[in-house]
Amino acid sequence: MASAGIVNIRRDVDDKFYRYRMPLLTTKIEGKGNGIKTVIPNMADVARALSRPPTYPTKFFGCELGAQTSFDEKNERYIVNGAHDANRLRELLDGFIDKFVLCKSCKNPETELIILKQGRTEDIIRDCKACGERTGVDMRHKLTTFILKNPPVKIKKGKKKTGTGDAAAGVGGGGDSPDAEASPVENGAESDDELTKKIKAEAKDLNDDTTLTKEEWSADTSPEAVKQRIKALEGGLAGVSIANGEDEGSDDDANSPYSQLGKWVEESKDSHEGDTKAFLVAAYKKAEELGIEKKHKSVLVLAQALFTDDVLNEIPKYGALFAKTITSEKHQKALLGGIERLVGLSHPDLLPAVPKILMALYQLDLLEEEVVTQWGTHVSKKYTDKETSKKVRKASEPFLKWLEEADDDSDDDEQ
Ligand SMILES: [Zn+2]
Repeated sequence: MASAGIVNIRRDVDDKFYRYRMPLLTTKIEGKGNGIKTVIPNMADVARALSRPPTYPTKFFGCELGAQTSFDEKNERYIVNGAHDANRLRELLDGFIDKFVLCKSCKNPETELIILKQGRTEDIIRDCKACGERTGVDMRHKLTTFILKNPPVKIKKGKKKTGTGDAAAGVGGGGDSPDAEASPVENGAESDDELTKKIKAEAKDLNDDTTLTKEEWSADTSPEAVKQRIKALEGGLAGVSIANGEDEGSDDDANSPYSQLGKWVEESKDSHEGDTKAFLVAAYKKAEELGIEKKHKSVLVLAQALFTDDVLNEIPKYGALFAKTITSEKHQKALLGGIERLVGLSHPDLLPAVPKILMALYQLDLLEEEVVTQWGTHVSKKYTDKETSKKVRKASEPFLKWLEEADDDSDDDEQ
């Protein structure tokens, strides 16, 4: 299967590592004659990335095309009557994003729609989380009537924090409650019963696996071999001088050193097929040349550029490079951010594999228990939208539980 399309929310930003990404809108024509219609199978995912109800962009298409629309939210069916070209709808989606998502002032997509009532008039405002500006939408657009009739559901929030990703807002109560149900991740997610059930079932499976697993995992990823490779790699890198990069570079800049590194890695990773070690050394040298080999953001870029739907095989293959570049908690979080984007946005079908992915990274010592636990219990908008962040963390639960349980055993083993 071809890799799932993923594009920048602002398609005018030509940077593969732009922070705000969404799935490429897809279409499917159904029916014929007068009953012909265009179904948008991934509208729910697209809308989630935009933090808007899926009905808004669908209805927007209807307004722009003068077509009837219909939704079956339960089954995530979003339909525009008539046969419409995917590219045309993507262009229209750009229009929707411009008019109803992006902050008018700073063009950041992290906005919330709010309805302001002043006397008899109602205004729809984009409330920007990035710059704090509140900018109105064009109330002459027909969609505004629909929005006023179907106002955005206020998401119930516990605490409202910004920058939750790195804030050391302690995990309440510490690790003594094995039942992590009450973690902040759960806020406003009551409708996810189904998902919780699935994860619980999977947690069982994983626990069954892990009774004999440490060996099984060892056999799978062969950590001995990988550790040797890491040593060899570090030896190979020992002579490389360390430059000090200062400029973090902007996310939106296609020429930023991060974009350059990402592009280089993507272009080079297959041409070195036979000699992974040489490729990894070269990638590190590239990062160094760009002055960003010590930056945590480089870890994110490497994860995005290296990992595909074959991530479980790629982790041991590329592990040495991450071992070399991950030097702090912040770096580990960037790696987790890369995984979030991979499984949350590019390959949602990998979501059930999250526990295995985390396990593989953990086995290679790329992640520490405390960092994963902290990450797993705190939703963050640093790397993806909030819903995706929540989804990925929920999927990680079996691994978090395993970590907690494995704690006692390994203490005995290692002494
Ligand atoms: Zn703004």
